[in-house]
Amino acid sequence: MGIAERYQMVAAEVAEAARAAGRDPESVRLVAVSKTVGPEGVAEALAGGARDFGENRPDQIVPKSQEFPEACWHFIGNIQSRRIPEIVGAASLIHSLYQLRHAEKIDRAAADLGKVQDVLIEVNVSGEESKSGVAPAEAAALVEAVAALPQVRVRGLMTMAPAGDLAAARAAFEGLAALADDIRAALSPEAAADFTELSMGMSDDWREAIPCGATLVRVGRAIFSDSYQE
Ligand SMILES: *Cc1c(COP(=O)(O)O)cnc(C)c1O
Repeated sequence: MGIAERYQMVAAEVAEAARAAGRDPESVRLVAVSKTVGPEGVAEALAGGARDFGENRPDQIVPKSQEFPEACWHFIGNIQSRRIPEIVGAASLIHSLYQLRHAEKIDRAAADLGKVQDVLIEVNVSGEESKSGVAPAEAAALVEAVAALPQVRVRGLMTMAPAGDLAAARAAFEGLAALADDIRAALSPEAAADFTELSMGMSDDWREAIPCGATLVRVGRAIFSDSYQE
């Protein structure tokens, strides 16, 4: 099987999982995480129907988004302050924001480009030391502070679950969904209307994320690696 076929297989499984959870399949977007492949891999996924792509490095998202402007590009990696103008120039949605100082820099970069930058706030739900993200107890205050920036729109939350433990992944996804509900309830009606996205679930655990309300699943290996085994 090639990349286009694997993309189609995963996309069909994602839609089926949404239906099985009583959700509209259109409410879950499959983000093809193309960080391990070059432009030819992106082209194959596009041919298979992929429209959303995720990258974790500015050096990758900038040239790929220029070569494939018809796709929607998601930045899912560590944000380095000095790379923010490049990230803002390339990304439709930044999933991995958890520092106010970065948000302020994104706001200025977006103003320079005449855009409003959509972002998600990354939350370290599991509390693992190796994971980035704001602590759950601090998430609401950060969302409010970022939502107050004129050129930044907070669209929701993102998390990475603990690896290798589906029960722990499920708990993290349920935790993120509950936190998003609490935060939304405290936002102004306008900010709450924007705050609809939950980015959670990767190759090994997206099946756990969809019943918990994921609206964006970020799948890399299951699409781009021919040696991936469930
Ligand atoms: C690499 C990556 C993914 C995709 O992981 P797979 O296990 O390859 O599906 C998703 N999210 C983030 C933040 C990543 O860095």
